[in-house]
Amino acid sequence: MSVTTATTAAHATDHLLEETVDAVVIGGGAAGLNGALMLARSRRAVVVIDSGTPRNAPADGVHGLLGLDGIPPAELLRRGRDEVRRHGGLVVTGEVISAAPAAPSAEGDPRFTVTLDDGSTLSARRLLIATGLRDVLPDVRGLAEHWGHGVVHCPYCHGWEVRDEPIGILAVGPASVHHALLFRQLTDDLVYFTRGTELDEDTRVRFAARGIRIVDTPVSEVVTAEGGGIAGVRLSDGQLVPRRVLAVATTMQARTDGLDELALSTQELPGGMGRHFATGMAGATHVPGVWVAGNATDLTAQVGASAAAGALAGARMNADLVAADTEAALAAAQRDLTRT
Ligand SMILES: Cc1cc2nc3c(=O)[nH]c(=O)nc-3n(C[C@H](O)[C@H](O)[C@H](O)COP(=O)(O)OP(=O)(O)OC[C@H]3O[C@@H](n4cnc5c(N)ncnc54)[C@H](O)[C@@H]3O)c2cc1C
Repeated sequence: MSVTTATTAAHATDHLLEETVDAVVIGGGAAGLNGALMLARSRRAVVVIDSGTPRNAPADGVHGLLGLDGIPPAELLRRGRDEVRRHGGLVVTGEVISAAPAAPSAEGDPRFTVTLDDGSTLSARRLLIATGLRDVLPDVRGLAEHWGHGVVHCPYCHGWEVRDEPIGILAVGPASVHHALLFRQLTDDLVYFTRGTELDEDTRVRFAARGIRIVDTPVSEVVTAEGGGIAGVRLSDGQLVPRRVLAVATTMQARTDGLDELALSTQELPGGMGRHFATGMAGATHVPGVWVAGNATDLTAQVGASAAAGALAGARMNADLVAADTEAALAAAQRDLTRT
Protein backbone atom coordinates (compact mmCIF):
# COMPACT_ATOMS: atom_id res chain seq x y z
CA MET A 1 0.00 0.00 0.00
CA SER A 2 1.35 3.46 -0.76
CA VAL A 3 0.09 6.69 0.74
CA THR A 4 0.01 9.76 -1.45
CA THR A 5 1.04 13.08 0.07
CA ALA A 6 2.68 15.62 -2.22
CA THR A 7 3.93 18.99 -1.06
CA THR A 8 3.33 22.28 -2.85
CA ALA A 9 5.98 25.01 -3.08
CA ALA A 10 6.55 26.85 0.21
CA HIS A 11 4.52 30.01 0.61
CA ALA A 12 4.79 33.11 2.78
CA THR A 13 3.75 32.68 6.38
CA ASP A 14 2.20 35.10 8.89
CA HIS A 15 3.12 35.12 12.57
CA LEU A 16 0.98 33.69 15.33
CA LEU A 17 -1.02 35.91 17.67
CA GLU A 18 -0.57 35.86 21.46
CA GLU A 19 -4.20 36.57 22.31
CA THR A 20 -7.08 34.11 22.00
CA VAL A 21 -8.44 34.27 18.46
CA ASP A 22 -12.04 33.71 17.38
CA ALA A 23 -11.17 30.73 15.19
CA VAL A 24 -8.28 28.55 14.18
CA VAL A 25 -8.68 26.73 10.88
CA ILE A 26 -6.56 23.58 10.67
CA GLY A 27 -5.80 23.02 6.98
CA GLY A 28 -5.56 25.64 4.26
CA GLY A 29 -7.04 23.85 1.24
CA ALA A 30 -10.26 24.87 -0.49
CA ALA A 31 -12.41 24.03 2.56
CA GLY A 32 -10.24 25.72 5.17
CA LEU A 33 -9.54 28.85 3.16
CA ASN A 34 -13.19 29.38 2.24
CA GLY A 35 -14.17 28.88 5.89
CA ALA A 36 -11.50 31.38 6.93
CA LEU A 37 -12.67 33.84 4.27
CA MET A 38 -16.21 33.84 5.67
CA LEU A 39 -14.90 34.31 9.20
CA ALA A 40 -12.48 37.08 8.19
CA ARG A 41 -15.20 38.85 6.22
CA SER A 42 -17.29 38.75 9.42
CA ARG A 43 -14.43 40.60 11.13
CA ARG A 44 -13.42 37.55 13.15
CA ALA A 45 -9.83 37.06 14.22
CA VAL A 46 -9.02 33.91 12.25
CA VAL A 47 -5.77 32.02 11.79
CA VAL A 48 -5.30 29.28 9.20
CA ILE A 49 -2.54 26.76 9.93
CA ASP A 50 -1.49 24.83 6.85
CA SER A 51 1.17 22.20 6.29
CA GLY A 52 1.20 22.59 2.50
CA THR A 53 0.20 19.13 1.29
CA PRO A 54 -3.20 19.50 -0.39
CA ARG A 55 -4.64 16.31 -1.84
CA ASN A 56 -4.55 17.42 -5.47
CA ALA A 57 -0.96 18.73 -5.35
CA PRO A 58 0.23 16.30 -8.08
CA ALA A 59 -2.48 17.44 -10.54
CA ASP A 60 -1.80 20.01 -13.27
CA GLY A 61 -5.19 21.66 -13.02
CA VAL A 62 -8.41 21.84 -11.03
CA HIS A 63 -11.19 20.71 -13.36
CA GLY A 64 -14.95 20.95 -13.13
CA LEU A 65 -14.80 24.14 -11.09
CA LEU A 66 -17.12 26.68 -12.64
CA GLY A 67 -15.36 29.81 -13.85
CA LEU A 68 -11.92 28.45 -12.95
CA ASP A 69 -11.76 25.16 -14.88
CA GLY A 70 -8.12 24.09 -15.29
CA ILE A 71 -6.60 26.54 -12.81
CA PRO A 72 -3.39 25.05 -11.31
CA PRO A 73 -4.14 23.85 -7.75
CA ALA A 74 -1.33 25.96 -6.25
CA GLU A 75 -2.63 29.10 -8.00
CA LEU A 76 -6.15 28.58 -6.63
CA LEU A 77 -4.78 28.28 -3.10
CA ARG A 78 -2.48 31.29 -3.58
CA ARG A 79 -5.53 33.36 -4.55
CA GLY A 80 -7.44 31.97 -1.58
CA ARG A 81 -4.69 32.87 0.89
CA ASP A 82 -4.54 36.40 -0.57
CA GLU A 83 -8.29 36.80 -0.18
CA VAL A 84 -8.18 35.65 3.46
CA ARG A 85 -5.30 38.03 4.21
CA ARG A 86 -6.99 40.93 2.40
CA HIS A 87 -9.79 40.65 4.95
CA GLY A 88 -7.46 40.54 7.95
CA GLY A 89 -7.11 36.76 8.37
CA LEU A 90 -3.71 35.17 8.97
CA VAL A 91 -2.28 32.16 7.15
CA VAL A 92 0.55 30.40 8.95
CA THR A 93 2.74 27.64 7.51
CA GLY A 94 3.05 24.79 9.96
CA GLU A 95 1.67 21.47 11.05
CA VAL A 96 -0.76 21.15 13.93
CA ILE A 97 0.52 18.34 16.14
CA SER A 98 -2.11 18.76 18.82
CA ALA A 99 -5.50 20.42 19.23
CA ALA A 100 -7.15 20.00 22.59
CA PRO A 101 -10.01 21.46 24.61
CA ALA A 102 -8.86 23.96 27.25
CA ALA A 103 -10.69 25.50 30.24
CA PRO A 104 -13.69 27.51 28.97
CA SER A 105 -14.05 31.24 29.64
CA ALA A 106 -15.87 32.46 32.77
CA GLU A 107 -19.08 32.63 30.66
CA GLY A 108 -18.63 29.03 29.51
CA ASP A 109 -17.41 29.89 26.02
CA PRO A 110 -15.23 27.02 24.68
CA ARG A 111 -11.47 27.38 24.40
CA PHE A 112 -8.97 25.21 22.54
CA THR A 113 -5.19 25.05 22.59
CA VAL A 114 -3.53 24.38 19.26
CA THR A 115 0.14 23.32 19.16
CA LEU A 116 2.31 23.49 16.04
CA ASP A 117 5.27 21.33 15.09
CA ASP A 118 7.70 24.13 16.02
CA GLY A 119 6.35 24.08 19.59
CA SER A 120 4.38 27.34 19.32
CA THR A 121 0.81 27.39 20.63
CA LEU A 122 -2.28 29.48 20.17
CA SER A 123 -5.62 29.70 21.85
CA ALA A 124 -8.92 29.69 19.97
CA ARG A 125 -12.62 30.00 20.73
CA ARG A 126 -13.64 27.81 17.80
CA LEU A 127 -11.96 25.26 15.53
CA LEU A 128 -12.56 24.41 11.90
CA ILE A 129 -10.95 21.11 10.93
CA ALA A 130 -10.23 21.10 7.19
CA THR A 131 -7.32 18.69 7.00
CA GLY A 132 -8.51 16.81 3.89
CA LEU A 133 -7.79 13.14 3.27
CA ARG A 134 -5.00 10.78 2.25
CA ASP A 135 -5.45 8.53 -0.76
CA VAL A 136 -4.05 5.06 -0.19
CA LEU A 137 -3.24 3.31 -3.47
CA PRO A 138 -3.35 -0.45 -3.95
CA ASP A 139 0.04 -2.08 -3.75
CA VAL A 140 0.98 -2.45 -7.41
CA ARG A 141 4.61 -1.98 -8.43
CA GLY A 142 5.13 1.17 -10.53
CA LEU A 143 1.66 2.62 -9.81
CA ALA A 144 2.40 5.37 -7.26
CA GLU A 145 4.90 7.28 -9.41
CA HIS A 146 2.16 8.03 -11.97
CA TRP A 147 -0.41 9.19 -9.38
CA GLY A 148 -2.28 12.31 -10.50
CA HIS A 149 -0.97 12.02 -14.08
CA GLY A 150 -1.29 8.64 -15.85
CA VAL A 151 -2.97 7.14 -12.78
CA VAL A 152 -6.29 8.81 -12.02
CA HIS A 153 -9.19 8.15 -9.69
CA CYS A 154 -11.98 10.55 -10.58
CA PRO A 155 -13.79 10.73 -13.93
CA TYR A 156 -14.98 14.25 -13.13
CA CYS A 157 -11.51 15.55 -12.21
CA HIS A 158 -9.50 14.21 -15.14
CA GLY A 159 -11.94 12.24 -17.31
CA TRP A 160 -12.24 14.82 -20.07
CA GLU A 161 -8.44 15.13 -20.23
CA VAL A 162 -8.03 11.35 -20.82
CA ARG A 163 -11.00 10.89 -23.15
CA ASP A 164 -10.50 8.43 -26.03
CA GLU A 165 -7.24 7.15 -24.49
CA PRO A 166 -6.63 3.41 -23.90
CA ILE A 167 -7.67 3.26 -20.24
CA GLY A 168 -7.36 0.39 -17.77
CA ILE A 169 -9.32 -0.07 -14.57
CA LEU A 170 -7.27 -1.70 -11.82
CA ALA A 171 -10.08 -3.23 -9.77
CA VAL A 172 -9.95 -3.04 -5.98
CA GLY A 173 -13.43 -4.40 -5.17
CA PRO A 174 -17.11 -4.08 -6.07
CA ALA A 175 -16.92 -0.26 -6.34
CA SER A 176 -14.62 -0.66 -9.34
CA VAL A 177 -17.54 -1.92 -11.44
CA HIS A 178 -19.26 1.46 -11.19
CA HIS A 179 -15.89 3.14 -11.78
CA ALA A 180 -15.50 1.17 -15.01
CA LEU A 181 -18.92 2.18 -16.30
CA LEU A 182 -18.12 5.84 -15.61
CA PHE A 183 -14.82 5.65 -17.49
CA ARG A 184 -16.53 3.78 -20.34
CA GLN A 185 -18.45 7.01 -20.91
CA LEU A 186 -15.09 8.63 -21.71
CA THR A 187 -13.42 6.04 -23.95
CA ASP A 188 -14.31 3.11 -26.19
CA ASP A 189 -11.01 1.41 -25.31
CA LEU A 190 -11.40 0.16 -21.75
CA VAL A 191 -9.81 -2.90 -20.10
CA TYR A 192 -10.91 -4.11 -16.67
CA PHE A 193 -8.16 -5.88 -14.69
CA THR A 194 -9.97 -7.92 -12.04
CA ARG A 195 -6.82 -8.39 -9.86
CA GLY A 196 -8.39 -11.25 -7.96
CA THR A 197 -11.61 -9.37 -7.17
CA GLU A 198 -14.92 -11.09 -7.82
CA LEU A 199 -16.85 -10.25 -10.98
CA ASP A 200 -20.18 -12.01 -11.32
CA GLU A 201 -21.59 -13.34 -14.58
CA ASP A 202 -24.23 -10.66 -14.85
CA THR A 203 -21.58 -7.90 -14.69
CA ARG A 204 -19.40 -9.73 -17.22
CA VAL A 205 -22.34 -9.78 -19.63
CA ARG A 206 -22.97 -6.07 -19.04
CA PHE A 207 -19.31 -5.25 -19.59
CA ALA A 208 -19.34 -7.27 -22.83
CA ALA A 209 -22.41 -5.35 -23.98
CA ARG A 210 -20.53 -2.08 -23.40
CA GLY A 211 -17.36 -3.37 -25.09
CA ILE A 212 -15.30 -3.45 -21.88
CA ARG A 213 -12.63 -6.14 -22.07
CA ILE A 214 -11.88 -8.16 -18.94
CA VAL A 215 -8.45 -9.44 -17.91
CA ASP A 216 -8.45 -11.98 -15.07
CA THR A 217 -4.72 -12.77 -15.22
CA PRO A 218 -3.05 -11.19 -12.16
CA VAL A 219 -1.28 -7.85 -12.60
CA SER A 220 2.39 -7.78 -11.65
CA GLU A 221 3.36 -4.16 -12.40
CA VAL A 222 2.67 -0.89 -14.17
CA VAL A 223 5.30 -0.34 -16.85
CA THR A 224 6.66 3.16 -17.47
CA ALA A 225 7.20 4.26 -21.08
CA GLU A 226 10.66 5.38 -22.20
CA GLY A 227 9.73 9.05 -22.38
CA GLY A 228 7.78 8.88 -19.07
CA GLY A 229 4.07 8.18 -18.86
CA ILE A 230 2.52 4.73 -18.77
CA ALA A 231 3.38 2.07 -21.36
CA GLY A 232 1.00 -0.57 -20.04
CA VAL A 233 0.21 -3.20 -17.46
CA ARG A 234 2.46 -6.24 -17.12
CA LEU A 235 0.59 -9.43 -16.25
CA SER A 236 1.95 -12.34 -14.22
CA ASP A 237 2.33 -14.40 -17.43
CA GLY A 238 4.68 -11.72 -18.81
CA GLN A 239 2.22 -10.25 -21.30
CA LEU A 240 2.11 -6.43 -21.57
CA VAL A 241 -1.35 -4.92 -22.04
CA PRO A 242 -0.69 -1.47 -23.58
CA ARG A 243 -2.50 1.32 -21.68
CA ARG A 244 -1.81 5.03 -21.39
CA VAL A 245 -4.07 5.73 -18.44
CA LEU A 246 -5.05 3.68 -15.39
CA ALA A 247 -8.01 4.45 -13.17
CA VAL A 248 -8.01 3.18 -9.63
CA ALA A 249 -10.27 3.72 -6.64
CA THR A 250 -8.19 4.69 -3.61
CA THR A 251 -8.88 4.03 0.05
CA MET A 252 -9.67 7.49 1.42
CA GLN A 253 -8.54 8.22 4.97
CA ALA A 254 -9.44 11.53 6.62
CA ARG A 255 -6.32 13.20 7.98
CA THR A 256 -6.68 12.99 11.73
CA ASP A 257 -3.06 13.36 12.89
CA GLY A 258 -2.79 15.49 16.02
CA LEU A 259 -6.55 15.69 16.52
CA ASP A 260 -7.10 12.74 18.89
CA GLU A 261 -7.60 14.88 22.00
CA LEU A 262 -10.68 16.47 20.46
CA ALA A 263 -12.31 13.01 20.58
CA LEU A 264 -14.30 13.61 17.39
CA SER A 265 -16.40 10.71 16.11
CA THR A 266 -15.39 9.00 12.89
CA GLN A 267 -17.29 6.79 10.46
CA GLU A 268 -16.10 3.96 8.22
CA LEU A 269 -17.29 3.65 4.63
CA PRO A 270 -18.62 0.21 3.69
CA GLY A 271 -16.17 -2.22 2.08
CA GLY A 272 -13.11 -0.62 3.67
CA MET A 273 -13.30 2.29 1.22
CA GLY A 274 -12.29 4.85 3.81
CA ARG A 275 -12.89 6.73 7.04
CA HIS A 276 -14.05 10.28 7.76
CA PHE A 277 -15.07 12.55 10.62
CA ALA A 278 -18.78 12.28 11.41
CA THR A 279 -20.58 15.61 11.14
CA GLY A 280 -24.09 17.02 11.19
CA MET A 281 -25.54 20.17 9.66
CA ALA A 282 -22.94 22.48 8.09
CA GLY A 283 -20.07 20.41 9.48
CA ALA A 284 -21.04 20.66 13.16
CA THR A 285 -19.62 17.94 15.41
CA HIS A 286 -20.71 16.60 18.79
CA VAL A 287 -17.88 18.63 20.36
CA PRO A 288 -19.18 22.16 21.03
CA GLY A 289 -17.04 24.70 19.19
CA VAL A 290 -15.61 22.28 16.59
CA TRP A 291 -16.68 22.07 12.93
CA VAL A 292 -15.28 19.94 10.10
CA ALA A 293 -15.43 20.73 6.35
CA GLY A 294 -14.18 19.35 3.06
CA ASN A 295 -12.67 15.93 2.41
CA ALA A 296 -12.02 15.34 6.13
CA THR A 297 -15.76 14.72 6.51
CA ASP A 298 -16.99 14.29 2.92
CA LEU A 299 -14.61 11.92 1.16
CA THR A 300 -16.21 12.43 -2.24
CA ALA A 301 -16.25 16.25 -2.23
CA GLN A 302 -14.39 17.89 -5.09
CA VAL A 303 -12.86 21.34 -4.79
CA GLY A 304 -16.14 23.22 -5.34
CA ALA A 305 -18.05 21.16 -2.79
CA SER A 306 -15.17 21.40 -0.29
CA ALA A 307 -15.00 25.17 -0.64
CA ALA A 308 -18.79 25.44 -0.28
CA ALA A 309 -18.74 23.26 2.85
CA GLY A 310 -15.98 25.41 4.33
CA ALA A 311 -17.93 28.59 3.59
CA LEU A 312 -21.06 27.17 5.22
CA ALA A 313 -19.17 26.01 8.30
CA GLY A 314 -17.45 29.40 8.59
CA ALA A 315 -20.81 31.16 8.48
CA ARG A 316 -22.24 28.84 11.15
CA MET A 317 -19.20 29.39 13.34
CA ASN A 318 -19.66 33.14 13.07
CA ALA A 319 -23.34 32.76 14.01
CA ASP A 320 -22.32 30.69 17.03
CA LEU A 321 -19.78 33.34 18.05
CA VAL A 322 -22.38 36.08 17.58
CA ALA A 323 -24.70 34.25 19.98
CA ALA A 324 -21.89 33.73 22.52
CA ASP A 325 -20.83 37.39 22.27
CA THR A 326 -24.43 38.50 22.86
CA GLU A 327 -24.75 36.26 25.94
CA ALA A 328 -21.46 37.60 27.31
CA ALA A 329 -22.54 41.22 26.68
CA LEU A 330 -25.86 40.57 28.41
CA ALA A 331 -24.16 39.01 31.43
CA ALA A 332 -21.77 42.00 31.63
CA ALA A 333 -24.67 44.47 31.37
CA GLN A 334 -26.56 42.68 34.14
CA ARG A 335 -23.47 42.68 36.37
CA ASP A 336 -23.15 46.47 35.80
CA LEU A 337 -26.80 46.92 36.70
CA THR A 338 -26.52 45.03 39.98
CA ARG A 339 -23.45 47.11 40.89
CA THR A 340 -25.29 50.44 40.46
C1 LIG B 1 -4.81 13.69 -8.10
C2 LIG B 1 -6.06 14.44 -7.74
C3 LIG B 1 -6.63 15.32 -8.65
C4 LIG B 1 -7.78 16.00 -8.32
N1 LIG B 1 -8.33 16.84 -9.24
C5 LIG B 1 -9.45 17.51 -8.94
C6 LIG B 1 -10.07 18.34 -9.93
O1 LIG B 1 -9.61 18.44 -11.06
N2 LIG B 1 -11.20 19.00 -9.59
C7 LIG B 1 -11.74 18.91 -8.33
O2 LIG B 1 -12.73 19.57 -8.07
N3 LIG B 1 -11.19 18.11 -7.39
C8 LIG B 1 -10.06 17.43 -7.67
N4 LIG B 1 -9.50 16.59 -6.74
C9 LIG B 1 -10.12 16.53 -5.39
C10 LIG B 1 -9.54 17.67 -4.52
O3 LIG B 1 -8.18 17.42 -4.30
C11 LIG B 1 -10.29 17.75 -3.19
O4 LIG B 1 -11.67 17.90 -3.44
C12 LIG B 1 -9.84 18.96 -2.36
O5 LIG B 1 -8.43 18.99 -2.26
C13 LIG B 1 -10.46 18.91 -0.97
O6 LIG B 1 -10.15 20.11 -0.31
P1 LIG B 1 -9.88 20.12 1.26
O7 LIG B 1 -9.67 21.55 1.60
O8 LIG B 1 -10.91 19.36 1.98
O9 LIG B 1 -8.51 19.30 1.47
P2 LIG B 1 -7.05 19.58 0.90
O10 LIG B 1 -7.09 20.32 -0.37
O11 LIG B 1 -6.35 18.25 0.89
O12 LIG B 1 -6.38 20.53 1.97
C14 LIG B 1 -6.11 20.08 3.26
C15 LIG B 1 -4.96 20.93 3.79
O13 LIG B 1 -4.82 20.66 5.18
C16 LIG B 1 -3.44 20.58 5.48
N5 LIG B 1 -3.29 19.79 6.71
C17 LIG B 1 -3.63 18.52 6.94
N6 LIG B 1 -3.35 18.15 8.20
C18 LIG B 1 -2.83 19.25 8.79
C19 LIG B 1 -2.33 19.52 10.10
N7 LIG B 1 -2.34 18.59 11.05
N8 LIG B 1 -1.83 20.76 10.35
C20 LIG B 1 -1.83 21.72 9.40
N9 LIG B 1 -2.29 21.52 8.14
C21 LIG B 1 -2.79 20.30 7.85
C22 LIG B 1 -2.81 19.96 4.26
O14 LIG B 1 -1.45 20.26 4.17
C23 LIG B 1 -3.64 20.59 3.13
O15 LIG B 1 -3.01 21.76 2.65
C24 LIG B 1 -8.37 15.85 -7.04
C25 LIG B 1 -7.81 14.95 -6.14
C26 LIG B 1 -6.67 14.25 -6.48
C27 LIG B 1 -6.10 13.26 -5.51
